[in-house]
Amino acid sequence: MFSQLQNSFQKVFKDLRGQGKISESNIQEALREVRVALLDADVNIKVVRQFIAQVKEKAMGQDVLQSLTPGQQFIKIVDEELTALMGQTHTKLHLSNTPPTVVMMCGLQGSGKTTTAGKLAASYKKQGRKVMLAGADIYRPAAVEQIRTVAEQVGVDVYAPGTHMSPVDICNEAKRLAEGRQVDLLILDTAGRLHIDDELMQELVQIKESATPDEILFVADAMTGQEAVNVASSFDERLSLSGVILTKMDSDARGGAALSIRAVLGKPIKYIGSGEKLDALEPFHPDRVASRILGMGDMLSLIEKAEGVYDEKSAKQLEQKIRSNEFTLDDFKDQLMQIKKMGSLGSLVKMIPGMGSKMGDMDVDDSQYKPVVAIIDSMTGKERKKPEIINASRRRRIAKGSGRTVQEVNRLLKQFQDMRKMMKQFTGSGAKGKGGKKQQ
Ligand code: GDP
Repeated sequence: MFSQLQNSFQKVFKDLRGQGKISESNIQEALREVRVALLDADVNIKVVRQFIAQVKEKAMGQDVLQSLTPGQQFIKIVDEELTALMGQTHTKLHLSNTPPTVVMMCGLQGSGKTTTAGKLAASYKKQGRKVMLAGADIYRPAAVEQIRTVAEQVGVDVYAPGTHMSPVDICNEAKRLAEGRQVDLLILDTAGRLHIDDELMQELVQIKESATPDEILFVADAMTGQEAVNVASSFDERLSLSGVILTKMDSDARGGAALSIRAVLGKPIKYIGSGEKLDALEPFHPDRVASRILGMGDMLSLIEKAEGVYDEKSAKQLEQKIRSNEFTLDDFKDQLMQIKKMGSLGSLVKMIPGMGSKMGDMDVDDSQYKPVVAIIDSMTGKERKKPEIINASRRRRIAKGSGRTVQEVNRLLKQFQDMRKMMKQFTGSGAKGKGGKKQQ
């Protein structure tokens, strides 16, 4: 799902992270690449234009460019805008206060209506609801058979009398039966055509008027991309849809329909179909889909955590110290304590995309903070500011005072010196060097 888009976004972000510093021109370039990625994924051109304009406006803000982590901020903005584009949060089915809730499925032939009706039935049955299916496609005897088979597989009631009754009468009768049988959810599976057809539209409008469904869901084949969006618009004009279900998301659909439908129609995607089996239906969560597209793992939670711990003032002070090479062992200890506030190192590392599985049993636990803090605490104020003065006898004294070994003291001092060197590369003139790659 979305693998092509994922690859494109990964490339954009990798390029951006490779820059030591981020400027307006880097962002412009990244935006251009995002635009191409979205168009390649068959996202509606108007939607792309608006999306880029919105991301641009936010990303060019001074607070982003001057922040410590502009690359991350940019990714966060893209993620937020993608989420907004797809409708922010999951929109559930509207269940009626007076059962049965009537759901009308519509869409072109082959889009997955009958399969999806069965999937919805299975999902609601699992939640303990009484569900009934009705087959209103009287034009194809095979369709009558299909809905009966699906109902049998799911284990729910079905009303599919065959080809001798009109679709409107079938739906009305199904509703009457459902009321009598205390059914919670009645799903009307309507006929489809290969193309939009006025006769069919009229029939659907009549069903809508007489069966007064609580939900009219358009079932769209995600593989058909922009065409799905166009057909959905035509159905919406006539029927005023309440939502969309995108099927065949397990295939190599490029993502264009998923990203455009909400913006073009103003109607939410409620579910996605992710396989032929009757349990392959997922509620559509825009935020999770956005993260999936961006291949971000739980990186956003990590950024949010960091934002919660670092206020702007201390971040600026820290930046200043790093720039002027005044970063001391006291600051180092402060930073360790800040990171500790965010949670255990192990859990933080797992949030980094791709790291969770690689970590295996590697032990990154809180106990690693303690010796470091003890060693720093055993130093004099002068030593913490100027670690260069810590000679062999001082090292022995510090080791004894902290209850650690001289080797541990040596290792910490070495790490601190290395860190300072690295920081120097990040800031000032060394920023464009290979050290820049470390900026995440
Ligand atoms: P209808 O004509 O709109 O009722 O479409 P069907 O329910 O008969 O589905 C048409 C074809 O699409 C069938 O072969 C289904 O198995 C397949 N199909 C439906 N939904 C999905 C899905 O989410 N993923 C995949 N891979 N196939 C699906």
